[in-house]
Order: sequence, then structure tokens, then C-alpha cells
Amino acid sequence: MTQVNDQILVGGEWRQGRGAPVRPLDPATGRELGCLSGASAEDVADAAEAGARAAADPAWRGLPPHERARYLYRIADLIERDTDRLSALQTANTGKTRAETTALVKSAAGTFRYVGATLETAEEALTPSRGAYLTMSVHEPIGVVGAITPWNSPIASEAQKIAPALGGGNAVLVKPAEWTPLIALELGRIATEAGLPAGLLSVLPGKGSVVGDAIVRHPLVGKVSFTGGTATGRNIAHHAADKLMPVSLELGGKSPTIVLPDADVEQALAGIMFGIFSSSGQACIAGSRLFVPESMYQEFVGELVRRTEKLAVGPGTDPTTRVGPLVHPKHRDSVAAYVDLAREEGGRVLCGGRAPEGEAYAEGAYYLPTVIDGLDNTARTCQEEIFGPVLVCLPYRDEEHLVELANASVYGLACGIWTRDARAAWRLARRIEAGTVWINTYKQFSSATPFGGFKESGLGREKGRDWIRAYQRQKSLYWGTDEAPLPWAVG
Ligand code: NAD
Repeated sequence: MTQVNDQILVGGEWRQGRGAPVRPLDPATGRELGCLSGASAEDVADAAEAGARAAADPAWRGLPPHERARYLYRIADLIERDTDRLSALQTANTGKTRAETTALVKSAAGTFRYVGATLETAEEALTPSRGAYLTMSVHEPIGVVGAITPWNSPIASEAQKIAPALGGGNAVLVKPAEWTPLIALELGRIATEAGLPAGLLSVLPGKGSVVGDAIVRHPLVGKVSFTGGTATGRNIAHHAADKLMPVSLELGGKSPTIVLPDADVEQALAGIMFGIFSSSGQACIAGSRLFVPESMYQEFVGELVRRTEKLAVGPGTDPTTRVGPLVHPKHRDSVAAYVDLAREEGGRVLCGGRAPEGEAYAEGAYYLPTVIDGLDNTARTCQEEIFGPVLVCLPYRDEEHLVELANASVYGLACGIWTRDARAAWRLARRIEAGTVWINTYKQFSSATPFGGFKESGLGREKGRDWIRAYQRQKSLYWGTDEAPLPWAVG
């Protein structure tokens, strides 16, 4: 049984939150993992004030970047030391398989290391002088930033915000998703153990409409980095506009995964299944719309369905499991409602389309991997993000038809292309409206490569050498080089 410690991290102090309780579940069994005190708006205010003090303290603000990097390296080492424990906790709270949660923990450690390395090598610019002065462009911390994360990839999502926010010289208030608060609190413990000065990191679980909203609106919070649904992101952007505060938004997706006639079929099938069914489809970048040429449609989709029916569904703790439970029974119900909608819209459910039967699944939030076709591209189930193990398949006539269908979406997060034809891959990769395009691979991430969405999939980028810049303010300095006074006021 997982031990849940009922304390949250507010401005450097571990204490009981003053907000509504948070009750994380194990979605494989439906059992509560414990009850912890959520944060209140007052806790957010305390955290913001302590954060502002800690960020302004010369002991932090005056620290050269390579010394800030040391904290990030220490945190990375401690995350790695605790990989097993963190992976087990994450599997208990999200239902993901141990292989997936181990990869997420390692990716979080990698994020802290990569950001540390960019800190050691980030340069300020001496810009070309255009007068009797030297000009410099430098970057400074914002002060206190908010980091609001979703439930689908905890630890990786939090690390992607905490590392560059601290690296940029700020204090950070983290608000994890209500269903998955446990790992963020563990990160708080690790940062404390790493000796991070008190107040620089607060972890504030609770309801988005209370705790998240209080973070976004707090006058001391100078930037919010948000990952989550598009509707929530839009709401946060409205509040940010009122404060004229910068926001980064990593939002939803309905990403096309495209088979070209010359694709390596084995590679395409494996990649498409991984792209939609790993993490039970609960990934912003899930390849949830499959496009196949009319000429090979029946055969390709038939084989995909045969293989999908064989995927092992079970608890994340079973090493043979490929598809774990969904994160929460309420989310499973939402996915099931979308499949019912697909039926009403005229779709044919080729496999799945229901919860698995049997005692082993009775209490968990399971749903079978599902393949649907026969829908028009304008159907809601082809346009809206389902965020579960549900793939819609659509045939296309030629490249023009394909591009038109693939780009007919409010989203633009990712795309997969399966082909041996390098020229066709290049052409398509440049024509599809998506922030990331994978060619003959899918769902791969590199800290060194910027990530973010087009259209309603988001604003701003995470990762890459400029990662910390999203958490800093740019300042220009002019150093006069003339000994004489400026001529205008000379008597
Ligand atoms: P969500 O938008 O419901 O919640 C995300 C976070 O925002 C949670 O912590 C929530 O408590 C908080 N929140 C909710 N209302 C708020 C408010 N009014 N003010 C401030 N904060 C508020 O999303 P979710 O259901 O937790 O996650 C799934 C969504 O996240 C999907 O749409 C998915 O595509 C998206 N996502 C995007 C990326 C990306 O990088 N683009 C990555 C992962 C998930």
C-alpha cells in the first residue's frame, strides 16, 4: 500500500494545506491511495510571497548560472537514485506500465541535467554598436512563476517546467493535476534534500479552479507555464491578458499519422500502434487520426485491427501489459462516451469499443484499445481530442486530398509520416500544420529539440537551448563610450 504523506510544500515549509482534500486513486483497482490536504488560495498567497523573497535574495539572484546548475544536477542525481520508488508510485497513481513510468522518471532526470548544461553554456550578447556606446542584451529572472501540469505524464511534465524556471533564476509554484499530485510532492522532497534554498519551490495540489486560478491571478506571479487542455489554456490566457503576463501553453492535439503507399508496413503498423495505444492513448501527441491510401486501406486497417485485438490489457505492474487502465474512472467514462458518439455519428467500431470483461478488470478504469472507421473527417470523433486508446481511420485519394484532410483540424501538435520516399516525406512534413513531425518514428522526444504546438495546440516552446529564456526577461544595456556630454543639452 502506498504511503501518502498529508503535507504539502508551501514557501519552504512542509505543512497541511488549508484547502479541500485531494484523494488520489489507483486506477487499476479503484482504491484510494490516501487523502491529502489540498492547498487553498491563502496557501498560494503564502507561497508567492515566500517565493518572491527567495527569488530576490542575493544568495539566489546573485548566483552565477553555473552554480545554479549544481542544484539542478543534484536534483537529477536524486531523481535517478529514486527511480524505482518514483516509478512504482507513478504507476500506482496513473495506471501506466512500469516501463512507461521508469522512462518518464529517467526523462525527468535528463531534463534537469540538460537544463543545467544549457545554464553552463548560455551566452549573453554584445550587439553590434551603432553609436557612441556599447550595446548588450542580457537575460534576467522574472521572479515568481507558476507551473500548472496535467495528469497524463506527471514527473516529466513537472520537470519540464521546474528545471528551466529554477535555471532561469526564479522561484516556482507548481500546481499538479488533482488526480495525480503525488509525484510532484516527491519532487518537492527531492529538491529539499538537494539543498535548494527554501521558498524557491512550492508544490500546491488541489482543484484547478481554486489553486490554479489563484496562481494565475496572483499579482506576484509574473509568468505561467501551463500544460493541459485547450479550454483551460484559453481561460488562463484571458487572465494573463488582464495582467499583461506572459504565458506558455502546451495544449491538446488530434494528430494525424499518415501511411504513404510505399511505407514499410511492419514499421508503420508498430509505430502507429505505439503512437496511439501506449499510455492508453493518454498523450497530447497521440497519433489519433490514421490516414491510409484508398488502394491499401482494407488490407492495412484489417491487419492493424488483428494486431490491436492481441494487445495485452492489464495493470501497469504486470510486465506483460501493453495497455494499462485509464487514469480515473471518470476519464474512462468520458472515453466510452466518445465511442458511443462515434457510433451515433455512423462510425463502425472495428475492435474494442467497451471495457474488458472479467474479474481482473471489474474495479479498474480499463477500456479496450479501439479502432473506428466509416466516419467523415468532420465528425466530432474525428475532430475532438478523446485522450484515450481510440484510433479513427480515414482513407485518402492522393496527396492533395491527404493534406486537406490532415490540416482540417483546430489542432496542430504533431504528425507521423510512414514512407520510404524521402522527397514525399520532406514535402509532406513541410505542408502539415504541426509543431513536431516524426518521419518513420513516433512519440520520440529530445531535450535538445524544441517542442510545442501550432494553432490551438499551444503557444511557445519547451526544450532546446533556449528553454530557460521562456522564464526570463530580456534587458538591453547601453554603455556610453564618449567622454563628451550628449550635444542636445550642452549650453
Ligand atoms: P486540464 O486542462 O483539465 O488541467 C490541466 C491543469 O490545469 C490541472 O492541473 C488542472 O487542475 C488545472 N486547471 C484546471 N482549471 C484551471 C483554471 N481555471 N485555472 C488554472 N488551472 C486550472 O487538462 P487535463 O485533463 O489535466 O490534461 C489533459 C490535457 O492536457 C489534454 O488536452 C492534453 O492534450 C493536454 N496535454 C498537452 C500536452 C502538451 O505538451 N501539448 C502534454 C500533456 C497533456
